[in-house]
Amino acid sequence: MRPLGILGGMSWESTASYYRLLNQGVRERLGGLHSAPLLLHSVDFAQIAELQRQEDWQAAGQVLATAAQGVQRAGAEALLLATNTMHKVAPAIEVALEIPLLHIGDAVGQALQAGGARRAALLGTRFTMQEDFYRQRLAQRFGIELLVPTVPAMAEIDRLIFAEFCRGQFSAPARAFYLECLEQLREDGAEVAILGCTEIGLLLEGVASPLPLLDSCERHVAMGLEWLLADAQGG
Ligand code: GLU
Repeated sequence: MRPLGILGGMSWESTASYYRLLNQGVRERLGGLHSAPLLLHSVDFAQIAELQRQEDWQAAGQVLATAAQGVQRAGAEALLLATNTMHKVAPAIEVALEIPLLHIGDAVGQALQAGGARRAALLGTRFTMQEDFYRQRLAQRFGIELLVPTVPAMAEIDRLIFAEFCRGQFSAPARAFYLECLEQLREDGAEVAILGCTEIGLLLEGVASPLPLLDSCERHVAMGLEWLLADAQGG
């Protein structure tokens, strides 16, 4: 297996899921004592969240591009940026790297296409739900029509991500609110819901949902595993 880089910490709650799921995937596929060869750079999320708040995407892109270059120098041969939102600065990271960035939007888009879905609900931070960088990729590359919640619902979905989920809190009221939003999106015509924030899967784990759920963290990990295992031998 070739070493895979992870740029994480956004937040570390979901980076821990990436680490666990990548290792579990390698163990399931190769057996024995096999585990994933990973290089992780986990940032201080307070700095990134503040740059998001200020909408200083240039500075955020620079911080992440520098961190990504460090992961490349340390020997990673491809990189997972373990957050949907910060794919807003994926172009700045990609130009700074020689190794490929395995894009979370492509992981989600490929899974939607494989499942035959055309109309998908999107839950994530306000940046992911409202701006073009994520929506356009899914629409243009994969022909997916995206539905988002109402503006007040999006504000609450976003607030909960930063106030609770990124701090490791997954409360019953937050779960009930997300399920209400999913029910509304089902009534609006969505066939599936993209959990387009890597922490939402932790909130909804094991919960009966009104819509089939497509977890961006799980799909991104699956893309990483496919890359890792492309030339691997078990035993
Ligand atoms: N992990 C989240 C995401 O997938 C939100 C945190 C962030 O803003 O990076 O978008």
